[in-house]
Amino acid sequence: MKTIPEYFGSMVFDDRVMKAKLPAKVYASLKHTIDEGAALDPGLANAVAAAMKDWAISKGATHFTHWFQPLTGITAEKHDSFIAPSPDGGVIMEFSGKGLIKGEPDASSFPSGGLRATFEARGYTAWDPTSYAFIKGNTLCIPTAFCSYGGHALDKKTPLLRSMEALNKQALRILRLFGNTTARHVSSSVGPEQEYFLISKEMYDARPDLRFTGRTLFGAKPPKGQEMDDHYFGAIKPKVAAYMAELNEELWKLGIMAKTEHNEVAPAQHELAPIFTTTNIATDHNQLTMEMMQKIASKHGLVCLLHEKPFAGINGSGKHNNWSIETDEGVNLLSPGETPYENAQFLLFLCAVIKAVDDYQDLLRISVATAGNDHRLGANEAPPAVISMFLGDELNAVLEAIENDTPYQGAEKTQMKLGVDVLPKFNRDATDRNRTSPFAYTGNKFEFRMLGSSNSIACANIMLNAAVAESLKIYADRLEGAPDFETALHEMIKKTIKDHKRIIFNGNGYDDAWIKEATEVRGLLNYRTTADCMPHLLDKKNVAMLTAHKVFTVEELRSRRDIMLENYCKTVTIEANTMIDMAATLIAPAVARFSADIARNVAAKKAVDPSIACAYETGLVKKLSDLADVISARTAELQNAVIGLCEAGDIVEESGLIRDKVLPKMCELRLACDEAETKTDKKYWPMPTYADILFSVR
Ligand code: ADP
Ligand code: MG
Repeated sequence: MKTIPEYFGSMVFDDRVMKAKLPAKVYASLKHTIDEGAALDPGLANAVAAAMKDWAISKGATHFTHWFQPLTGITAEKHDSFIAPSPDGGVIMEFSGKGLIKGEPDASSFPSGGLRATFEARGYTAWDPTSYAFIKGNTLCIPTAFCSYGGHALDKKTPLLRSMEALNKQALRILRLFGNTTARHVSSSVGPEQEYFLISKEMYDARPDLRFTGRTLFGAKPPKGQEMDDHYFGAIKPKVAAYMAELNEELWKLGIMAKTEHNEVAPAQHELAPIFTTTNIATDHNQLTMEMMQKIASKHGLVCLLHEKPFAGINGSGKHNNWSIETDEGVNLLSPGETPYENAQFLLFLCAVIKAVDDYQDLLRISVATAGNDHRLGANEAPPAVISMFLGDELNAVLEAIENDTPYQGAEKTQMKLGVDVLPKFNRDATDRNRTSPFAYTGNKFEFRMLGSSNSIACANIMLNAAVAESLKIYADRLEGAPDFETALHEMIKKTIKDHKRIIFNGNGYDDAWIKEATEVRGLLNYRTTADCMPHLLDKKNVAMLTAHKVFTVEELRSRRDIMLENYCKTVTIEANTMIDMAATLIAPAVARFSADIARNVAAKKAVDPSIACAYETGLVKKLSDLADVISARTAELQNAVIGLCEAGDIVEESGLIRDKVLPKMCELRLACDEAETKTDKKYWPMPTYADILFSVR
C-alpha cells in the first residue's frame, strides 16, 4: 500500500511533474507566470500540452476538459477524448497547445445576465496556468476562465484573478514605501473551513423537499436536537469515519491538503478544513472538495447536504474563509512583526483591512448572499447580517492608544510617535476567541465567517481583495507624495482608526442589543436578505471602486446583480412549489386519513355504547380537521403569492415580492403542517421526521 506522501498529488500535473517532464526553458518560463503573474508565453503551449497529455495518458486518462466555474456557483466541464484519426485508419492520442489554451464551449446554457445575446452562443474558456491541471476519473481537467464572445467574464475565476492582481499591485506599492525592494509578488491566501451534513440516502430519498431543494421545508422539532452539545468534537461514528477516510484519500490524490476533520455542533453535522493556499487555488480546491464530498457520500449510502440550512431549529452550515496576504518571500503581511518597523507596516495593512470592511460592508454582505444563506445570517447561530470586526483586546488597546495619543498601557509607558514602538508581540493564541464575529482577527489572518456552506469562496475573496486594494491605493497615493513619511503614516493610521472604529466590535455578535447599537448608534448596515442587499451592488461607490481596479466592468456587475437575484427568486419559487405540492398531496391527505380513521373508531365505540365519551378522539378529530382546513387555506394563499410573482416588472421587484409575499406565506404553511405532525400518528406521517433523519447515520 502506498503511503500518503507517495500518493499525495498523484493526480495533479504539479510542479514536481512539470519540472520532470517539461524542457528546462519551458518550465522556467511557465514557473515565472505561475509564481509572479507574468504574462503567459503562448509559444510554450505546445510543449506543455504534449507533456500534459503523455502524463495524463500514463495515469489512464482518455479525455480532457476545460474545467470552469460559471455563475451557477458550481463547476462545469465538457469532455473531449484525445483521439484523432491516423492515416492508416487507426487513431493517435493528440492534444495541441491550442486545445490547452483555448476552448469554445456553447455558452448559451449558462447564466449570462444579458452579457451574451441569446443568438450569440459562443463562449471561450482560457487556460489558467496558475492552477494545476488534474485528473478526475478518466479525464484531464484543465482549470480555465470562461468569458463571452465579447470578452466579458461569465465566471467567478476571472474576477478573482483580477482582484488578486489589483491587491498585488497596491500592496507592492506599500512595501516599496517601507523600503522593501526585493518582494516581487503579493497574493492573498485562503484556508476555507467547510461544514456539511451527512444523512442516510434512504431518508433523503423519502423527502421530496430534500431532493428538490436541498433542505427540509417541513419538520417539527425533534425531542432531541443539539441541546446536549454532545456531538461537537464527539467520537466519529464508524460509517462517518469510513467516509472521511475515503474523502481524504481522494482529496490528497488531487493535491488538496485536507487537514482537519471533526463533528460539528448539530447532530449529523461535520467539518473539513484544508491547509491554506493561494486564493485562486484554494477556490478551485474548495469547489473540488464540495464535489468529492457529495460523490463519495453516495458510495457509502449517504447523502452530503451542503445547504446552509437543511433543518430549521438546528445549526446551519457555513464556511469560514481564513484570509491573509503574503509576499513571495513568505512574509505574512497580517502578522505583527518583531521590530517597530515591521509593526508599522503591519498596522498599515491592518488599517487597510479595517477601512475596507467598513467602506464595503455592503459588498461583503452581497458576496455571501443567497436564499439559503439568508436563513443562517441573523439566526441565532451564524454571525448576524450586520458586518463588524473582532480584533481582540490587545490590538484594540493599541489602536485606542494611537487614536488618542496616549501611552499604550499594555507595554512600557512611553508616548508613541508612530504608535508602534511598543506594539506587543503576539502569541497566535493570545487573543481570546470570539466565535460570534463575522470578521475576526485570529493572530495572523482574518476569518470571514459569513459564507454559506454552498457558496463558492470566489465571491467573498473578490470583494475582500478589491476592497483592501482600494484602501492600499488610497494610502499609497498619499504616502508616495508625503514630505515626511513617518508623520504622514502616523496621521493616516490615526485617521483610519477614528473614521472606521465603528466597525470594530469585540462583544457578542448574536446579542439583539448589538444589532440595535450597530444599526441605530453606529449606522452599520443590516441587509437581512438577498433581496435587500443585492441591488446595492450597483451603488455608485461600489461600481466606481470595482471598475477602477479592473475587477469588473459595469456590464459584468449589472449581469451579476441580475443573475444573483434570479437565482434567489428561482430558488425560493422552487421551494414554494415543492411546499404546495407536498402539503396538498402528502401532508393534508395524511392528516385527513388519520382523523377519518379516528372518527370511524369513535363511531364504532359509540355503536357499542353511546355513553362512551371519546373525549380524546373527538378532540383530536376536531383539532386535526381544523388544521387540515388551515393547511389547505394556507396552501392556496402560498399558491396565490407565487402566481402574484408574474406581476413584477423586473427582477428587483420580483425579489421584493419573494421576500415580502412568498417567504412569509411559506412560514405560515409550515407552522400549520409542523403542528399537524406533532398530532398525527407516526404511522400515517408520509415522510421521515427530523428525528429519523438527524440520527439516521449510525
Ligand atoms: P482556527 O482553529 O483558529 O480556526 P486553524 O489554524 O485551524 O485556525 O486554521 C483554520 C484555517 O485557517 C485552516 O484552513 C488553516 O490552514 C487556515 N490558515 C492558517 N493560517 C492562515 C493564513 N496565514 N492565511 C490563510 N489561512 C490560514
Ligand atoms: Mg476557524
